[in-house]
Amino acid sequence: MSEGVSDITIIGAGPVGLAAAYYAGHRDASVRIVESLGQLGGQVAAVYPEKHVYDVAGHPKILGQKLVDLCVEQGLQFGADVHLDEEVADLTRIGQNGEEVLCLTTKSGRRFLSRALIVTAGHGAFEPRKLALEGIDDWEGRGLHYFVRRKEVFAGKSCVIVGGGDSALDWTLGLQDTAELPITLVHRRERFRALETSVKEARRLEEEGKVRICVTSEVREIRGDGAIEAVTVENTATGELVDVECDALILLLGFHSHLGSIADWGLVLHGKRQILVEPKTMETSLPGVYAAGDVAGYEGKITLISVGFGEAAIAANNAIAAIRGEKVQPKYSTD
Ligand SMILES: Cc1cc2nc3c(=O)[nH]c(=O)nc-3n(C[C@H](O)[C@H](O)[C@H](O)COP(=O)(O)OP(=O)(O)OC[C@H]3O[C@@H](n4cnc5c(N)ncnc54)[C@H](O)[C@@H]3O)c2cc1C
Repeated sequence: MSEGVSDITIIGAGPVGLAAAYYAGHRDASVRIVESLGQLGGQVAAVYPEKHVYDVAGHPKILGQKLVDLCVEQGLQFGADVHLDEEVADLTRIGQNGEEVLCLTTKSGRRFLSRALIVTAGHGAFEPRKLALEGIDDWEGRGLHYFVRRKEVFAGKSCVIVGGGDSALDWTLGLQDTAELPITLVHRRERFRALETSVKEARRLEEEGKVRICVTSEVREIRGDGAIEAVTVENTATGELVDVECDALILLLGFHSHLGSIADWGLVLHGKRQILVEPKTMETSLPGVYAAGDVAGYEGKITLISVGFGEAAIAANNAIAAIRGEKVQPKYSTD
């Protein structure tokens, strides 16, 4: 299936892709967004929608999901054409009505044609790390979770959280007011990687009986009739096995992410995970292909939302100037 030619196709609907959609729409370009997840908002919506973000200019403190909602409102106001659940796989160039256009093909076989591309694919299509337990996928939708998207899902539930990083500690603390207590926190090592203050707070709550911490421990078995009812946790230092009754097993072990087929397009990369760009224009090594946000790399790059917002403006303005054969000029949005 082939779609009509748009001026710009944006790969990835994280905060930076949405900002690029705003800038391109504001300049009256036709914009299409292709996103592999079934939702908008990238890492912010998928990984930390209920955490506060403090360093986005103009927002002293804002919930991740609220920030994403505002990015969506701003980014889609000019009517960008959005395609969710479509992972971009291939890039070719084809002739169309006398002009050469870029042709993206997704894993499901759809084709999207455009005059320029802005790649805002973050760390690439990402998936959560899993436990090496046979049949683990069968528990998905039956008490096994890889994200805490909405706290109310865990209200009144007995939770086992697995992980040693910030997400595991944050949610052990963040679910205290809604989940059944104690929350069990299982980590395979002795020491946590998370922020020291979070670990200290979890230890304090352990003394109050609100958290149960199992270090040097791993989940060995999941049991239940239809849905999760208990897990067996092994202390690998002592060999002791403990049964923990629970309704929810929340695995917060981080993500695998990979650029996937984008890395095979012949783009010059910056390290293994980023596409090299010229920061003055955000152009990649392929003509007509721009990149911004976490996926774009150059000397001194900082992967922050604010930095990505600036890069999105540069990429969109340069892409439009190139398509129209114009000089790049800043255009203010004020009316
Ligand atoms: C726990 C955590 C806390 C953070 N806190 C902060 C903070 O306080 N402040 C801050 O500035 N930054 C923070 N960050 C970093 C911030 O989230 C990222 O810098 C930001 O999300 C980058 O936005 P992006 O749009 O470039 O990429 P992403 O948000 O990663 O979005 C990329 C999108 O592209 C999609 N995609 C990837 N490959 C494909 C493909 N082949 N086809 C179609 N779609 C594809 C992905 O599914 C994803 O939705 C934090 C990150 C984490 C994990």
